[in-house]
Amino acid sequence: MAADPAPTATRDTDLDALLREVQRAARPAAARGHVADYIPALGELDPESFALAAVGMDGTVHGVGDLDEPFPVQSISKVFALTLAMQLVGQSGSVAERLWRRVGREPSGDPFNSLVQLERERGIPRNPMINSGALVVDDVLLSACEDPYAALRGLLSEVVGEPVAVDETVRRDEARTGYRNRALANLMRSFDNIDHEIDAVLDLYVFQCSLQLTTRQLARAVRFLANNGVDPATGTRILSPTLSRRVAAIMLTCGTYDAAGDFAYSVGLPCKSGVAGSICSLVPHEMGLAAWSPPLEPSGNSAAGKAALHELAERLELSIF
Ligand code: GLN
Repeated sequence: MAADPAPTATRDTDLDALLREVQRAARPAAARGHVADYIPALGELDPESFALAAVGMDGTVHGVGDLDEPFPVQSISKVFALTLAMQLVGQSGSVAERLWRRVGREPSGDPFNSLVQLERERGIPRNPMINSGALVVDDVLLSACEDPYAALRGLLSEVVGEPVAVDETVRRDEARTGYRNRALANLMRSFDNIDHEIDAVLDLYVFQCSLQLTTRQLARAVRFLANNGVDPATGTRILSPTLSRRVAAIMLTCGTYDAAGDFAYSVGLPCKSGVAGSICSLVPHEMGLAAWSPPLEPSGNSAAGKAALHELAERLELSIF
């Protein structure tokens, strides 16, 4: 059998130069994608935007492109909502058990906003990284948290190291047009898997999706998951090592919806995507990664973002496998 080709770069390579190469290789993939416009304000995102950032544990930022351009995090907020829920319910005991009776931990193999599985599986979402699962997590946060809005924004601001803003236009637009999410919440409520009023759950969900980050901030924010649950910037423990591993495992298996298998195959790192075109990822014990390019593949993941993470992971042999 032929030997595997050697990686074309090492961890000591000039990372900024490598990221520029990766950008050149990955960016054309954007032409295959389409900017999401089912939330009207997202349709205005510039398909040419592109950024790729790698932030090390010591805070060193390497990056290329529109690193400081803000975008709504959309589904990437599901990682932080799950983190907050796990902080509140812990890893054992009846509250945690109840959470995992209400939402599964299996890949869905269906689009992120699909209703089909929910009907067949009696209102129990497959995992917390799809919309239905995130709505259940928000329902839990509404019970467990005095002010889940402040708590979510506070958690994100903490790991970013500065206050994060809300994109009010996206928030309004999504609240007005979130027909499928309303249908998901109603269907789950009909199976007794939502406790609060539908409007309250949707309002929190839309809020978390409208939180704004830049690519630089996003790569920084995920580092606690690469560092056994401790934010390397401050030394603050965000999650226990066990729970941190579990959130990363759910990202790997479910974070990119029905493309999660292909992401594991071609990137080999825990990833989470958002419909505004960002994807965050992490290299255990080394760095947080974020890519942003608005045009999406049919699976709802950024086409050039995925290509960029694939190129980077190949060239530096970052896969955890
Ligand atoms: N707010 C978006 C929605 O509910 C989030 C989906 C996503 O980013 N994949 O449709």
